[in-house]
Amino acid sequence: MVAAAAPPAKPVTPPRLNPVRVPIVEEPIEERVHDFRPVLRAYSKEEAVLEAKRCIQCRRPWCVEACPITQDCREYIIQIAKGDFDAAARVTLQDNPLATCLCKVCYRYCEDACVVKKKGVPIAIRHLKRAALELGNDDLAYVPSAPKHQRVAVVGAGPAGMMMAWELGIRGYGVTVFEQEERFGGLMQTIPAYRMADADVEHDRARYRGLDVTWVKDDKIGVTRPVRALLDDGYQAVFLSLGTSEHRVLGVPGEGLPGVIPALQMLKRFNAGGSVTVGRRIVVIGGGDVAMDSVRTALRLSAPGAVTLVYRRGRAEMPADPDEIHEAESEGIRFLFQKAPLRIVGAGKVEGLVVQAMELGAPDAAGRRAPVAVPGSEETIPCDTVIVAVGQRTDLTGFEGDLDLKVTSQGWPEGKGEGFATGVPGIFAAGGRSVVYAMGTASQAAEAIDRFLAEKRGETAGPRPDSFGGAEPFHLPAGYTTPIRS
Ligand SMILES: Cc1cc2nc3c(=O)[nH]c(=O)nc-3n(C[C@H](O)[C@H](O)[C@H](O)COP(=O)(O)OP(=O)(O)OC[C@H]3O[C@@H](n4cnc5c(N)ncnc54)[C@H](O)[C@@H]3O)c2cc1C
Ligand code: SF4
Ligand code: SF4
Repeated sequence: MVAAAAPPAKPVTPPRLNPVRVPIVEEPIEERVHDFRPVLRAYSKEEAVLEAKRCIQCRRPWCVEACPITQDCREYIIQIAKGDFDAAARVTLQDNPLATCLCKVCYRYCEDACVVKKKGVPIAIRHLKRAALELGNDDLAYVPSAPKHQRVAVVGAGPAGMMMAWELGIRGYGVTVFEQEERFGGLMQTIPAYRMADADVEHDRARYRGLDVTWVKDDKIGVTRPVRALLDDGYQAVFLSLGTSEHRVLGVPGEGLPGVIPALQMLKRFNAGGSVTVGRRIVVIGGGDVAMDSVRTALRLSAPGAVTLVYRRGRAEMPADPDEIHEAESEGIRFLFQKAPLRIVGAGKVEGLVVQAMELGAPDAAGRRAPVAVPGSEETIPCDTVIVAVGQRTDLTGFEGDLDLKVTSQGWPEGKGEGFATGVPGIFAAGGRSVVYAMGTASQAAEAIDRFLAEKRGETAGPRPDSFGGAEPFHLPAGYTTPIRS
């Protein structure tokens, strides 16, 4: 852990708490449901400055402590409040190589921790990040430290792999990123265009141009060659960020009928420009963010169709982002809570989904109330399409053996050792449940890989260098005490 700097100077704006957020304008519902235009409009300069001035610039930056990559959001907000958008963009990008993506899709752990939330609506930290990048100069290129003459292989170009390439690239290592798909970005490539544009990943990736990073696509490690062969090929360490590229199945009768579509497959294919056919009466099964993206994508593809979400627990238990739930509901999605799918029925194609009512029992170890079936409560929901969004799983083909990987409860493979080290020296594995969380795990693993490689050189690893080539290495913002884990 890097020491924090001295406490901040006097705030540039008076610390008077205003609980009311400058509204984030949404596209009109009746227009946006017919296409994939971005739903949220960006702040204007004036709106961004007004919103930034609501920040009371806490001496202890709770927002930064809650961010898995310790993005110095307090500082970019200060720069926006001063009207200096170029400085705000630079501060943002300095520690956040996927900022163009995150300013649209981050789950905003920072806003949950913002003190203003205690009295009203937290500062729009994510939306201000977008203002910094869109209103300031974000066409910057990262600068590597002196070359280390050691090369690392990264397997998987999702957020964790991209973060690792940046962490090692700015430290002066050579990195080769192997991706099995044709496009980089991992699961971010399944996020619909009304939330994040396809070009956003490429926009972020362009800032890597000064680093010694080679990007290889269509290469599935474990199939094209065993992972250990990378070490034999001269890579001095390997980082596995395999993510969860496979969909989970429901496991009910009728799942093989034409008209049943795995959510991940639909979102990926449509985003890549492929054709997806849905009917007019669509049921989506699930309660997470993938289910939210599925109902809203299905609505846009079927317009003027009817889309129903079926979830086996209640609204309070839904793991999806509350903003996504609100946006889906306001677009006209019907929510059916406490219904579990029993079977999909139809003669040669989907004609209905049979569900059973659920009561919520006692909370489980994680505090979530377990659904319990109500006998004799079966009903059939007529539909022509069923989209299954009940989770993803990892594909470990070719990674079995002595790596000794742990698969987390949400399906991500990771190393069990310090800094996510696996059972094989020099091979590390991490990633995780949100874009910024996955990046945070990669940062931790990068420190461990840096130590591992420095030891091989007979040196001691130093702090992360400034990513734009400045003399000051990375340090935690003033007043930072402990990370807030969410
Ligand atoms: C529809 C959807 C919407 C989401 N919305 C949000 C959101 O709004 N905000 C948010 O923060 N998170 C969201 N998430 C979650 C987020 O995308 C993931 O948590 C994040 O992408 C995980 O990053 P990762 O790098 O660990 O894994 P992944 O993103 O899964 O990346 C892993 C990469 O490794 C590649 N790979 C796997 N095996 C191999 C191999 N053998 N050889 C080569 N390459 C391989 C895969 O093709 C993939 O590109 C969403 C996820 C989905 C599916
Ligand atoms: S990356 Fe996400 S959690 Fe971190 S400051 Fe930005 S919006 Fe907040
Ligand atoms: S916690 Fe909220 S009010 Fe405090 S510095 Fe961060 S954004 Fe500003």
